[in-house]
Amino acid sequence: MIHEESFEGIGLSSNVYVLKSLEGYYIFDASGHPDLLSFLLSAGIDKDRILGVFLTHGHYDHVTGLVSLLGANIKAFINQKDRSLLESCIGPREVSDISEGIPLLEKIGLKAIPTPGHTPGSTCYYSEREHLLISGDTVFADGYFGRTDLAGGSDSDMKASLKYLSALKVKSLLPGHGNYILDGGSKAISLALSNANYLL
Ligand SMILES: [Zn+2]
Repeated sequence: MIHEESFEGIGLSSNVYVLKSLEGYYIFDASGHPDLLSFLLSAGIDKDRILGVFLTHGHYDHVTGLVSLLGANIKAFINQKDRSLLESCIGPREVSDISEGIPLLEKIGLKAIPTPGHTPGSTCYYSEREHLLISGDTVFADGYFGRTDLAGGSDSDMKASLKYLSALKVKSLLPGHGNYILDGGSKAISLALSNANYLL
């Protein structure tokens, strides 16, 4: 279930999604705000019930808020391929590889899917049961895809990642920026794939 207190990113900040399970909260992306923790607390989220923060990639507008969460002993996970990117933004930090977060993700039926292209370690999170995709900066609700011209970006990887995602059944598409949609996610992904094939 998407918690009602997910945060829409403002300016150079990513969206932050909060999924609530019986056991606690899952946070996806950490925004560009250094004190994300205060936002979460003011939304009534008990920090002791946050099970982990799962990053879609290592860009500063998605990881800067991690500093406040790590300070509260909350575990965070990122694909190792984006570790140097993350460290170039917030310095060396105790962040685990996404493989260590898989048991936690499985508890709520989520899979981590490597989707390089925007960055080498870009990762999407997918629920087959709920047809929900947290897509980071790989694909957006308007049918566009993330930049591939930044360090570590790859046109061919982006096209392959979008092709892979387009084979999934997606209703809810929760991207790293802009609007999310609760219906028609697969349509947006197919459009992004054809846009990428045309533009890249
Ligand atoms: Zn990014």
